[in-house]
Amino acid sequence: MDDRINVTRSSMPSLDEYVEEIRGLWDSHWLTNAGKKHEELRGLLREYLGVEHLELFTNGHMAIELSLTGLGLDKGEVITSPFTFVSTTHAIVRSGLTPVFCDIDPHDYTICPQSIEPLITDKTVAILPIHVYGNVCHIEEIQDIADRHGLKVIYDAAHAFGETYKGQGIGSFGDVSIFSFHATKVYNTIEGGAACYHDPCLDTKLAQIRDFGIVDEEKTAYIGPNAKMHEFSAAMGICNLRHVDQEISKRAKVSERYRERLEGKKGILLNTIQKDVKTNHAYFPVIFQEEAFGASRDEVFNALKEHNIGARKYFYPLNTTLDCYRDRYDANETPIALNISRQVLTLPIYADLSLKDVDRICDVILETAGA
Ligand SMILES: *Cc1c(COP(=O)(O)O)cnc(C)c1O
Repeated sequence: MDDRINVTRSSMPSLDEYVEEIRGLWDSHWLTNAGKKHEELRGLLREYLGVEHLELFTNGHMAIELSLTGLGLDKGEVITSPFTFVSTTHAIVRSGLTPVFCDIDPHDYTICPQSIEPLITDKTVAILPIHVYGNVCHIEEIQDIADRHGLKVIYDAAHAFGETYKGQGIGSFGDVSIFSFHATKVYNTIEGGAACYHDPCLDTKLAQIRDFGIVDEEKTAYIGPNAKMHEFSAAMGICNLRHVDQEISKRAKVSERYRERLEGKKGILLNTIQKDVKTNHAYFPVIFQEEAFGASRDEVFNALKEHNIGARKYFYPLNTTLDCYRDRYDANETPIALNISRQVLTLPIYADLSLKDVDRICDVILETAGA
């Protein structure tokens, strides 16, 4: 089935380029524990992302969990949104914190600032917003609320690699911003992640926490896991960073074609183009309003599937309705998030997706409604 279109396709350098990058490892035999490639990538990413401090991790999830630990947050409530990948919610719960779910803005799907303040109690310690699909959160309003209430802000920027807001790297906002470098993301280190922050004390602390909490040969200060990025991942990251700008401009072309084909169609809502944001075209979410469009999101999903096209119901089911959370939370308390989760479909997008394939995808979608 070689006409299959997946929802994404991992970016890779040429095999030769990668082999060249890892060749030195056969001399050094230094494979992990903040090796040369690791340190090189750390410097390159700091520069590319425009952030002061950055620490690498095995994945984005551990970057969130260990940033919470690093900030000293181990009890209390964290205001966040349920409209995200399950990792965000899990990270809060696994850190001993209690998520308090806030509804989202119906236009950009990020946390709704007006709904945050009523949820603040004397137990609230932090706000954890998500730059959903690369849509930038209402940064100024969130920071203002956090400042007035003495709360930390941790951004889940897993979708927002390489973006800028008002010319500033997206990783430079909040106390900490975390990125995921998973294979399916705009930029990958196969598996990997990073935390970006302003407080220089976090450099040593995070490096220790992600290495079992070990401080030196005889001292262990934290109960940490093993969450270190190894040299083969760092080498992949160094290679992929050389090409990421080009990958993003190719994604822009795909995105543009989708817009040409789908914009203004009845019952179809496309993602907002945000002011002051340089976007990375990470996802192409579409909202299908069943009555107006003439077919439901699930009907479109199934039609695409029949044509060997993999779209994704992302994020569905909503985190608060998952088996592991539904006894503790009521999804009806965030009705906008619940509604969007039932109507949204993210369409295939990756650098080498051909415009011909985009047309094929759009044809199937529009035929579903008999349009
Ligand atoms: C991918 C992702 C994560 C987790 O990152 P991993 O690198 O897969 O651990 C967290 N939050 C969001 C929003 C993500 O998309």
